Amino acid sequence: MFMRGAHDPLRIERAEGPWLYASDGRKILDAGGGAVVVNIGQGRREIAEVAARTIANLDYIVPVWTSPQRERLVERLSRWTPAGLTRFFFTSGGSESVEAALKFAILYHHARGQRSKNKIIGRRVSYHGNTIAALSAGGSGRRADYEDILLDWPKIDPSYCYRCPWGKTYPSCEIDCATALEKEILKNGADSIAAFIAEPMMGSSGGVVPPVKEYWPKIREICTRHNVLLIADEVMTGFGRTGRRFGVDHWDVVPDILVGGKGLTGGYMPMGMIAVKEPLVEELERARADFMFYTYSSHPVACAVADEVLAIMERERLVERSAEVGTRLGSSLKEELSGHPMVGDIRGAGMFWGIELVQDKATRMPFAPEKKVTNRVLGASVRRGMFFYPASGMAGKAGGDAMMITPPFIIGDAEIEFIIRTARAALDEIQPNL
Ligand code: PLP
Repeated sequence: MFMRGAHDPLRIERAEGPWLYASDGRKILDAGGGAVVVNIGQGRREIAEVAARTIANLDYIVPVWTSPQRERLVERLSRWTPAGLTRFFFTSGGSESVEAALKFAILYHHARGQRSKNKIIGRRVSYHGNTIAALSAGGSGRRADYEDILLDWPKIDPSYCYRCPWGKTYPSCEIDCATALEKEILKNGADSIAAFIAEPMMGSSGGVVPPVKEYWPKIREICTRHNVLLIADEVMTGFGRTGRRFGVDHWDVVPDILVGGKGLTGGYMPMGMIAVKEPLVEELERARADFMFYTYSSHPVACAVADEVLAIMERERLVERSAEVGTRLGSSLKEELSGHPMVGDIRGAGMFWGIELVQDKATRMPFAPEKKVTNRVLGASVRRGMFFYPASGMAGKAGGDAMMITPPFIIGDAEIEFIIRTARAALDEIQPNL
């Protein structure tokens, strides 16, 4: 990924709606929404105009000051986020936002005199970003090269019925995936745990996995009982991706801290945020604790763009569209692809779907990691004019492969049909060579 001018990767010159146009003349459907970012489609004139107007008028201020752009965004976001999450801190992306959430949680407990609450519980199959602390909180293969220096934070297994870590079957399982959190808190001592962080639906590390419906309400109860802050990492699931404004809205759960990125600006600007419950921020203010900003926190142009992106989502009812078109997308994927010999499981919600690929449907055995099945299917798919977002490693050391079908919310039936046709053709091409 280190840039060197012209080299191998596909060279995209232009994009419009859900379509990418490469320098070699190819037209590619972005069924991954880039890295699950492009919610409203590309090439919107209104956003270009807002960005140009803002740059001409106000380019940068130190983040301790405010601007009309920031104030407008905060006001709008207060209407988007779950009730009570009314204080916002802005960053340049998801990892920085997760980092801010983890530091906020620790600082909050310190401000209340609980200096031993320093650990963050995360999940074994998860991704929270690429900084040292975000990698430490996460559980993906992306940790591998840095294991020796990562923070030694506790992990629990996720809610993942297709490969239930407890070998049980829902609903007779007693939701062990949720009670695992309480056990882990007690094992470490609640006085050592600052927060629990999880994605409302597993994203790139799990290949889209919605939890059972009891999971988040139970997790909320456990966190409250032990004075452990609940951090919902909505970097991927936020801003309509799952057919609701936020993933946690599916279960009416309000986390203490919600982390956003990607869909906040739909890819038009690098930006992330955390939304925090008012009384928690007041604790920090009372203790006069200093929560350091990043240079580009609350950047006026990013704020203006995010505000316009959300305004477009409201005007065009794109969250509702994600739910409606997403239901059709999910049913078509299941109807048309479930029978494919490589397809083990299809799951998701809204415009957030995962197709887990397996070597053996009956035993759910994954492909060996060295076969790099996801990458090969992706190559075959891109050759046919469709990008999807790849996911792998959900079966731990045994591997795991999945295609993430996470297109912009503006696609219609013609694109759904193209997605199905291309996914099937890509799988058919790769299957005989495995
Ligand atoms: N959290 C989740 C759930 C993510 O999916 C990602 C990125 O994919 C991140 C955090 C990190 O975001 P970024 O890559 O913008 O730093």
